[in-house]
Amino acid sequence: MVSRQIERRGIKAPQLLEAMRQIPRHLFVQPLMQDRAYEDNPLPIGENQTISQPYIVALMTSLIYLEGVENVLEIGTGSGYQAAILSRLAKTVHTIERHRSLARRAESILKELNIQNVTVHVGDGSVGLPDFAPFEAILITAAMPQVPGVLLDQLSKDGRLVAPVGSSGKQILQRWTREGETFSREDLIPVTFVPLRGKLGWKSSEW
Ligand code: SAM
Repeated sequence: MVSRQIERRGIKAPQLLEAMRQIPRHLFVQPLMQDRAYEDNPLPIGENQTISQPYIVALMTSLIYLEGVENVLEIGTGSGYQAAILSRLAKTVHTIERHRSLARRAESILKELNIQNVTVHVGDGSVGLPDFAPFEAILITAAMPQVPGVLLDQLSKDGRLVAPVGSSGKQILQRWTREGETFSREDLIPVTFVPLRGKLGWKSSEW
């Protein structure tokens, strides 16, 4: 998976590749899907949600430049796989999921792997986790209508935020970088994610 799907597509950061080699992705997918865990695509995880394609996990992680000292927020825990990768590259990881069943399952797999620097929260991540801010990096793993100011405000002074932004048919991966009180935005590649719900997410009538 790592050499064919990730290195070959240009991701070279050694610690990230090592984390992707070490974390057993098959534990995070449903038991009946385990033989497909290392395929080059997303897979269903229950509650109509998905574990993201390995390359997208690697790409989003590489875009936030972690050095091991960061406090990171992930919005959309899903299976917990992305959080497990982040745990190897950051100091602390907060991850929030709106489906309690997914959050609990993710938490138990992270515990089984003895990952101790990830805290799983249940709730609406569309407004972030202000009580645990500032974050050097925020990763949003569901498509947002736009990146709200309330999330950008939770970035540290040189923080990075990566999110898929757009509707069901048309999304783009964006990276936002904070420099003091100003923010710059880069539009990167087209992507396909499930919708972010909640107060600042997509309403079911809109998606
Ligand atoms: N990062 C995940 C992984 O490694 O398996 C994949 C995430 S999946 C593509 C998107 C997740 O975002 C779903 O589990 C969904 O329930 C969650 N989600 C959607 N809206 C949310 C919200 N407002 N707050 C928290 N989680 C949300």
